[in-house]
Amino acid sequence: MTYTPAETRYERMTYNRCGKSGLKLPAISLGLWHNFGNDTPHQTKQAICRRAFDLGITHFDLANNYGPPAGSAEEAFGEILKTDFRGYRDELIISSKAGYNMWPGPYGEWGSRKYLIASCDQSLKRMGLDYVDIFYSHRFDPETPLEETCGALDHIVRSGRAQYVGISSYNSKRTREAYEILKGLGTPLLIHQPSYSMINRWIEEDGLIDTLEDLGIGSIVFSPLAQGMLTSKYLNGIPEGARAAQDKSLDPGFLNERNLENIRGLNRIAEKRGQTLAQMALAWVLRGKRITTALIGASKPSQVEDCVKAIETPDFTAEELAEIDVFAKDADINIWAASAERKGPPRKKK
Ligand code: NAP
Repeated sequence: MTYTPAETRYERMTYNRCGKSGLKLPAISLGLWHNFGNDTPHQTKQAICRRAFDLGITHFDLANNYGPPAGSAEEAFGEILKTDFRGYRDELIISSKAGYNMWPGPYGEWGSRKYLIASCDQSLKRMGLDYVDIFYSHRFDPETPLEETCGALDHIVRSGRAQYVGISSYNSKRTREAYEILKGLGTPLLIHQPSYSMINRWIEEDGLIDTLEDLGIGSIVFSPLAQGMLTSKYLNGIPEGARAAQDKSLDPGFLNERNLENIRGLNRIAEKRGQTLAQMALAWVLRGKRITTALIGASKPSQVEDCVKAIETPDFTAEELAEIDVFAKDADINIWAASAERKGPPRKKK
């Protein structure tokens, strides 16, 4: 069935300025890490993207390795661009990344110029695009000079493959270094993509959140729902088909009694606030306007609808924040494992 975007699509969403740049991003963005591979029917992917755009989500986040198999999410999105979003390219912010393992041999991962530029070209081809809006270094490469990685990002912009550049999961110190190098090259660092949620606060502990504010870099936080744990979906067991049942990135071991007790406590606070736990989790990362956008994933359109309503109740009382801390800080989650992708494949010994 042909799709025409809702005329009301810009009426309810909030758009936040990305750092000190000219670009605004929706408060809620959609990521295609899960549920956009060949294991999900195309109609479902199409329905999720259509609903998102109808609700004012203009930003779709991809990476070379999203699938399974790796690359298939970009292919699926390329199809959606052709069929559903044809004619709307200038209303969309599309991002991709390179950093994780994509092809065999020494040039298929990490942060060399060779890998980043080749991977960007592959992503553009898969999506059928001339350019992406944002291209990211997906992870810091301890063995490649940062000047080389940043030089490749600069080249990707200058050659017209991307409009802006970002980095993902770099710590505060490396972020400052990348910012300075890119500034010197004349391609500002637009955005940082770290993980962040009520139960994963490493960007506060590391000082990254202060660094971003200080340098005027925007922020898009991934897994703000802790891959679904900060929603009501696991309160009464693991539903069939849920991410924790898929043996992928969400370890069902996290859903132990202690964590479930804490999630139930958080759910009670959300109920008192008159919202769902997912909505409270998103409002929490966006509180105080320090974060530009919360990057969600979804397996069905109704989840996108639920999440977008988070922007209707943005404020927290000091008591609510303190009560949230009691439960959230008691949750026993290994934050590195909470996002398997962040950890990446083990580096082979030479
Ligand atoms: P998330 O929003 O924390 O988790 C999404 C999952 O939560 C959904 O798949 C769904 O689980 C569940 N969910 C979402 N809304 C719900 C609702 N309203 N009610 C109940 N359940 C709900 O985010 P994520 O998928 O882990 O990550 C989001 C995006 O961040 C990715 O797609 C990717 O673009 C990006 N990311 C980047 C990196 C990086 O290294 N840069 C790493 C990870 C992710 P079910 O599927 O079980 O229904």
